[in-house]
Amino acid sequence: MKLIAIAGPSGSGKTTLVKAVMAMLINLAFSISCTTRSKRGDEAEGKNYFFISSEEFKRKIGAGEFAEWQEVYEGGFYGTLKSEIARISEEGKNVIFDIDVEGAINLKKVYGPDLLTIIVLPPSHSELVKRLESRGSETKESLAIRLAKAGQEAAKASEFDKMVYNDDLNEAVTQLKNIIVEFTESSD
Ligand code: 5GP
Repeated sequence: MKLIAIAGPSGSGKTTLVKAVMAMLINLAFSISCTTRSKRGDEAEGKNYFFISSEEFKRKIGAGEFAEWQEVYEGGFYGTLKSEIARISEEGKNVIFDIDVEGAINLKKVYGPDLLTIIVLPPSHSELVKRLESRGSETKESLAIRLAKAGQEAAKASEFDKMVYNDDLNEAVTQLKNIIVEFTESSD
């Protein structure tokens, strides 16, 4: 089993990229994280996330159920369940994570060379603003918070194994797919 963590600033398009490569590569399974944020319109419980309360999240921290967790935004907790990695391992598949930058760096400390970390970067700041606004789910305040975080995250790009610029979506998908295939098919 190999592990692939896809990180990148909010609005970099990483979630779209993850979905696109998963549709192309059948040996990949998505690690469903827990989050305390509320569900967006197009999301489903147990598919995009397990949506849980802060109390339940804290209980899981205490019970040691997370491989890593982060307070990504104030009051917004996200965590990777050890049970998800075990479930996917039992299926005989490789694991793909949609995760924030700190989470990816922390997972790398745990899994070392079995984990490939990839950061997806948006082409420019103005493009990023456009993408986040077009999502329609952000308030002025949450947009500003996400943009500030995006700047901090992009500064950590050098800590990643691979970098993908999501300038042209099709090109980024092909690039990402090739990186994943090369990693999952290598024997070491
Ligand atoms: P969103 O609210 O847009 O779904 O996600 C916000 C951020 O949290 C994204 O960067 C996403 O990749 C990250 N994220 C999702 N699941 C996890 C997780 O389990 N752990 C960590 N550290 N970050 C996560």
